Amino acid sequence: MTDSPPVIEIRNLHKAYGALEVLKGVDISARRGDVVSLIGSSGSGKSTLLRCANLLEDSQQGEILFKGEPVRWRGTGMNRHPADPKQVLRIRTNLSMVFQQFNLWSHMTILQNVMEAPVTVLRRDRAEVEEAARRYLDKVGIGDKCDVFPAQLSGGQQQRAAIARALCMEPEALLFDEPTSALDPELEQEVVKVIKDLAAEGRTMMIVTHDMRMAADVSDHVVFLHLGRIEEQGPPATLFGAPKTERLQQFLSASV
Ligand code: ADP
Ligand code: MG
Repeated sequence: MTDSPPVIEIRNLHKAYGALEVLKGVDISARRGDVVSLIGSSGSGKSTLLRCANLLEDSQQGEILFKGEPVRWRGTGMNRHPADPKQVLRIRTNLSMVFQQFNLWSHMTILQNVMEAPVTVLRRDRAEVEEAARRYLDKVGIGDKCDVFPAQLSGGQQQRAAIARALCMEPEALLFDEPTSALDPELEQEVVKVIKDLAAEGRTMMIVTHDMRMAADVSDHVVFLHLGRIEEQGPPATLFGAPKTERLQQFLSASV
């Protein structure tokens, strides 16, 4: 098991929006069971990196591997795109994303939200998906909210529903983009608790977060991104306890 390839591996990734270079050669990977947190100032490229990882964004150079399988591309540079839609679908559905703004469908109940993609995208058996959806909603503590609409829930409950929805895809890894940033401080902790539980059960996760305490608590590895490059990385105790670069020192002292 220990020498199985990482669930997600990114090598020398370059990404630009037009003339704006956002990622300038980033290497990052997560092995099965790893929790990798990404920290860095606003605009440093954290969201872009996650979106490139699950192929929501194209990138111009570098490799992305899912369980050792490289993404196949056609074209080069600004004209580079994934070559195989089936591969994209397989990778994207295996790297389930949880967004800052929850992105629940407002016209569907919570249960329908959680069931939608497994049924329509993965074409799984509806009854089995419903059973799993109820189990995941229970797991995140909102098993009693199946039949209500997102607007009837607090932000913390909506985000927990979004996590249940990601889990119901039965993905290989979860990608979180600032999952607690839209929440009031008192609701933040209920989402942090769910993420801690997922880490404790050995889920593979990449988490973009501004919450240094959560990053310190749940991560195996922390990556500090600065202007599209990895400025410093390491185990949380080292990164938070003894930051080496001045940029990380400044970032951390501004984050408390
Ligand atoms: P972070 O998540 O670290 O705050 P982002 O990855 O969102 O950073 O953004 C990195 C840079 O890319 C920023 O300068 C941002 O303005 C720019 N950017 C992000 N998305 C787009 C886009 N769709 N089009 C053009 N520029 C973008
Ligand atoms: Mg972002």
